[in-house]
Amino acid sequence: MPRPKAITQELNVSQLGIFLLFHAVTLYLLFQVSWAPQWLALGLGMHVLRFLGITVSLHRYFCHKAFRTSRAFQMVLALHGSLTLIRGPIRFASAHRYHHLHSDSPEDLHSPDHGFWWSYVGWLMSKDFDTHTRDRVRDLRKFPELVWLDRCYWLPALVMAVMFYLVWGLEGLVWASLASTLTTWHLAFFVTSVFHRTGHQDFETGDRSGNHLVLALLTLGEGWHNNHHRDMQSAQLGFKISQPDPGYWVIWLLEKTGLIWDVQHFDAHRFQRPQPRPPKAAGLTKPVQASPAIKQESDTALLNALPH
Ligand SMILES: [Zn+2]
Ligand SMILES: [Zn+2]
Repeated sequence: MPRPKAITQELNVSQLGIFLLFHAVTLYLLFQVSWAPQWLALGLGMHVLRFLGITVSLHRYFCHKAFRTSRAFQMVLALHGSLTLIRGPIRFASAHRYHHLHSDSPEDLHSPDHGFWWSYVGWLMSKDFDTHTRDRVRDLRKFPELVWLDRCYWLPALVMAVMFYLVWGLEGLVWASLASTLTTWHLAFFVTSVFHRTGHQDFETGDRSGNHLVLALLTLGEGWHNNHHRDMQSAQLGFKISQPDPGYWVIWLLEKTGLIWDVQHFDAHRFQRPQPRPPKAAGLTKPVQASPAIKQESDTALLNALPH
């Protein structure tokens, strides 16, 4: 296991300042533009497109390699993921792989154990983010175009914002670009905070990840978070027909077009993790902790399974 790094919770003031200024400007402009249905529909459509950038492109592909694709389409996925304006594909993958290695332990970068505000967004505005997100991404760093985009991750969203302004004026800029940025951000922040404190645990994963229908619908499948911690390489986060997973539906369509292949599905034997909980015990809201031996075995398997 890599040596865990201490979390200092020291904020990056300039990063936080830009974040707060972005909110202030967007909220001010929202009261200067039309709220007609077509603009709301445009904002909603862009929100869905950008959140797909998180769940399909950044999370399922770059973090977990849940499917394979060509180098050219990999770049399309990287551009798509960068539209979320959270981070580029390499930094995002490094932070998230670190979370899987240390989930709900003191080393977990965004564990709610460090406080709700911290797990919601503080970790992303901190100096810890810089020191914890440099490793475990050799598989991505070997592509120069990804390294470049990771440095300029804000560029695709800026180009998109200018295009919307030129085509639809201020309404286009505010609804399609600025407002959908805020909704995408805050829904993503739910994943790092609330998803480790709510929902059912169908699997004993040694952490507090939960499955939650409403959150899964809002986050295009990410709400099946306990499933995901059980088998992180599965492109399907909803393991049952009763667990809708819109992000996977997009992956299924991409596979049909031939743009992606080798899509991974839930494998009950992957990583030799602990078996599903008995039905009577499922549905708990209290944390479930695997025994230290199981946790250590599981962590080692997890480390071996993560792309490097
Ligand atoms: Zn998690
Ligand atoms: Zn993950």
